[in-house]
Amino acid sequence: MALAARMGRLGTETAFAVSAAAAEWGSRGNRVYPFHLGDIDLPTPANIVEAMDRAITDGKTGYCPAAGIPALREALADDIGRARGMDIGAERIVVQPGGKPVITKFTQALVDPGDGVLFPNPGYPIYESQIEYYGATPLPYRYVPTTTGFAIDLDQLRELAPSATALVYNDLQNPLACESSDEERRAIAEIAIENDLSVLSDEAYFEMRYSGRSRSIASLDGMAERTVILYTFSKRFAMTGWRLGCAVAPPEIATAMARINTNDESCTTHFVQEAGVEALRDPSGAAALLDELRARRDATVAALAEVPGVSCATPEATFYVFPDVTEAMAITGHDDVADFATAALRSTGVSFCTRRHFGRPRPGETTEHVRFAYSGIGTDDISEGLGRLGEWIGSHR
Ligand code: PLP
Repeated sequence: MALAARMGRLGTETAFAVSAAAAEWGSRGNRVYPFHLGDIDLPTPANIVEAMDRAITDGKTGYCPAAGIPALREALADDIGRARGMDIGAERIVVQPGGKPVITKFTQALVDPGDGVLFPNPGYPIYESQIEYYGATPLPYRYVPTTTGFAIDLDQLRELAPSATALVYNDLQNPLACESSDEERRAIAEIAIENDLSVLSDEAYFEMRYSGRSRSIASLDGMAERTVILYTFSKRFAMTGWRLGCAVAPPEIATAMARINTNDESCTTHFVQEAGVEALRDPSGAAALLDELRARRDATVAALAEVPGVSCATPEATFYVFPDVTEAMAITGHDDVADFATAALRSTGVSFCTRRHFGRPRPGETTEHVRFAYSGIGTDDISEGLGRLGEWIGSHR
């Protein structure tokens, strides 16, 4: 049996290979400090679990509308609109089994083979995978380090935009843990409008923030009609395995995406949608989750400040940090970041992804970075693991 030719263009999340290496190292009796996966080791709030139990008992186990049950579409329209200062009608909401399907369905609905699609690099690897799978032309755009994190290279984006029909934008960025300034977000909106681009605004981390307020590019003048928002319950409510999210799209795009739902999965699991209604009705569990993640963020940043040759800003959002490890690699005698990560795992048990798990490095990159996720590791282990990392690097001096 021969695979279809397009399968040769389908990428993956290579970060899962880091999990496999960490699990293998752990299975040999070694201690592992898991900073590699963007999963959450905290339970889904009890009110959400109970709502799902009730829904199953009540027989909410059959097919339901392709675009989602009306109660959830209405609750999402209200919650997403209020948080973004937008007036969103329920007809714009298309429920999905998670946030990730929005990336696929945006590409299926709006991108033709040969179209240019702008996407962040470093960035979530599924963007490039889907762009290539559907035969579009990947146009990666880059970030430059700043004193507070990273900023999009707007000159490069302006240069590439005339070759594009679509733009993927991930404010509150994975893996960089940065967010746009108001000026940067406005400039990106101007570029999208001037070049008549369709925009996918990946807002998976919109609620995962420790101070300040998140903003959506979709709320800027002239953007709602050209933007699809990716929303997910995964991170906000520690529901990564439940698979519940939605697209917020202009009505005619929403109708097309609901038709794709009919073709793909028919509908998102009915009793999971009922649990989603409860999550939005009483989101107090999400606030407790954020308090824990804030403590972990503080522990991570404080411990990394003590690690020789490692430097990073303090992110106000997401649950990642993306430190510069160029000097740490020099101290330990590594010129390959993958070798550095393997040596760190074997010497200290600390497991993390590198920049290369988030797209091919671009010409001219002179620094090396890695990503620590603190969503799957408690504060004591954060301090202990990063303490070990610091001792190991320091021992090479
Ligand atoms: N977008 C970004 C930037 C992510 O980091 C992730 C998951 O890690 C997703 C989308 C997908 O989220 P979900 O688990 O809801 O499919």
